Order: sequence, then structure tokens, then C-alpha cells
Amino acid sequence: MDNRYDIAIIGSGPAGISAAINAKIRNKKIILFGSKDLSAKLIKAPKINNYLGFYNVTGEELKNQFQRHMDSMGIEIVNERINNVYAMGDYFTLMVNEKMYEATTVILATGVEYTKPLSGEEKFLGRGVGYCATCDAPLYKGKIVTIVGYNKEAEEDANYVSELAAKVYYVPMYKGEYNLRSEIQILQDKPVEIQGDNFVSKLILKENEVDTDGVFVLKDSVPPAQLVPGLEIEEGHIKVDRLMKTNIPGCFAAGDCIGKPYQYIKAAGEGQIAALSAVSYLDS
Ligand SMILES: Cc1cc2nc3c(=O)[nH]c(=O)nc-3n(C[C@H](O)[C@H](O)[C@H](O)COP(=O)(O)OP(=O)(O)OC[C@H]3O[C@@H](n4cnc5c(N)ncnc54)[C@H](O)[C@@H]3O)c2cc1C
Repeated sequence: MDNRYDIAIIGSGPAGISAAINAKIRNKKIILFGSKDLSAKLIKAPKINNYLGFYNVTGEELKNQFQRHMDSMGIEIVNERINNVYAMGDYFTLMVNEKMYEATTVILATGVEYTKPLSGEEKFLGRGVGYCATCDAPLYKGKIVTIVGYNKEAEEDANYVSELAAKVYYVPMYKGEYNLRSEIQILQDKPVEIQGDNFVSKLILKENEVDTDGVFVLKDSVPPAQLVPGLEIEEGHIKVDRLMKTNIPGCFAAGDCIGKPYQYIKAAGEGQIAALSAVSYLDS
């Protein structure tokens, strides 16, 4: 198939970029999904002294070096969030809402969330709790939806959901200006617990309590088992062997998402191993 990629890389932190560079050197047809800032964890770092070859740099400076490296090699980031990856046998489909990409192999380099799930989040997952507001928005037509947004991208989702839902609350987990439609009610408060019987009915916050039919928790990355059904997880991380192979043939993983220590150069090294393993898989 013409538009099938050899390797789809999900995540544009050091693990994903290093995977992309190595796969490109090996002449594979790649697609790299992520964000134009590369990684929120990269731009936030005040000082980095443990990345070989770069002493005393800020995260922003290291990010600019990564960007220059990618530009020199003609590697672009597709600024899209993958919602699901399905293993189809000898290839994978990657879903971005209703849009679909195909690749023979996949490298997961999605990072980890340092923040813990909310109380009730896992219990009500699929029963009023979701991680992709735009995918599930039609289910909440005429209903009340609360969005707990950890980044600015969540604002776009909230605006879209508000076109369908009867009422949208937005709980920002970051400071700044919020680019939200006027009918969205902002709750500057800390979410504590999601409650309900069979289905979500309430979100309890520190100072408020709201009735709601759905709660979307929108972070930089979703739990990997949600992203790839059937993926084996061990103690909260994707289980891999030393060649970065997961339990699904053709699916590899690298970086923070496979376990500690959470460090740039470890992530980059694992991204390289994952890319070379994907190349061997393609060539075998
Ligand atoms: C403040 C701070 C300071 C730090 N300082 C240091 C330091 O000095 N030295 C050091 O070695 N480490 C440091 N770290 C740790 C380092 O940031 C991480 O170990 C590193 O970024 C991990 O790289 P990664 O590629 O695995 O994931 P990340 O850098 O987290 O990148 C993952 C990327 O994938 C994207 N993504 C996730 N899911 C999807 C999806 N479904 N579709 C599309 N894109 C997706 C995310 O948006 C993100 O851009 C620091 C971290 C923080 C927060």
C-alpha cells in the first residue's frame, strides 16, 4: 500500500526524535507524531548538565538543538494526537479522531504523566470518564461535560465539545490565559474526586461540587494500555525486552513510558534501539 509508513513514531520527546533520526538514516519511510514544542518536559527544564556534549544548557536550548538536527535531516513533526493504535496483523492503524494512518511498525515514545489519576478516574473510565474529548463528544450531545485540562490543547477540545454539550465546565490545571468560548464556565479549583453510581454523576472539587454527565481528563499523554489495546504493562510502564520489543510483534517502545530513570539521554538511547529493532523487523 502506497500511503503505508514503514515506522510510525508516537511522541516527539528525545526518545521519539532519536528513533526518527535513526530510522531516517536507515532509509525508512517514517511519520513522527507529536507537538511543535517537541516535549513540554524539555522546554520546562531550567538547567541540564547530564546530556553528553551539552553542558549547562536550558531545556529550551536543547530543544532548539534537537529541532536543528531534525531540520537538517528533513524530519517534520505531524502535530496530531494519536487516540488509538490497533494491531491489524501485519500492520497497525493509528487513529486521530476519524482520521486514520497505517504503518507496518510502531514506536511508542509517549513519555509519562507525573500526576496521579484523580480518585474515581480509573473506576469510571468508559462510564463517563474519557481521555479523548473530541472522539467521545457526540455521546454528550445536550449533556453536561467537565473538562480537566492539563495543557492549552485541551482548550480547543473544550471549545469543540461546547458546540454539542448543553453545558461545559473547564478546570484548568495550569496558569495563563484561556482561549475559551464565552459559554464555557471556568472553575479555578482543584479536582478531588469523580463520583457516581454506575455512571459519572458528579465532580467534587476542593471548593465546589458540580453535577456532570462526563469528565474528560486531558493530559500530554494517555495511559499506554488505553492507547494500544492488548499492550502488556508492568508496574505502570510498557513492558519491553532489551531490544525495546513489546508483547505485540512490530510494536516497540522507548523513553519514560518504559520505565525509570526518567532522563533525556536514556530516552534518546532507547529511541535508537527501538528504531534499529523496527528496521530489523521490517527487513526480516
Ligand atoms: C522540569 C523538568 C526538568 C528535567 N530535567 C532533566 C535533566 O536535567 N536531565 C534529564 O536527563 N532529564 C530531565 N527531566 C526528565 C526528562 O524530561 C524526561 O526523562 C524526557 O523528556 C523523557 O523523554 P521521552 O521522549 O520519553 O518523553 P517526553 O519528553 O515526555 O515526550 C513525549 C512526547 O510525546 C507526546 N505524546 C504523548 N502521547 C502522544 C500521542 N498519543 N500522540 C502524539 N503525541 C503524543 C507528548 O506530547 C510529548 O511531546 C526533566 C523533567 C522535567 C519535567
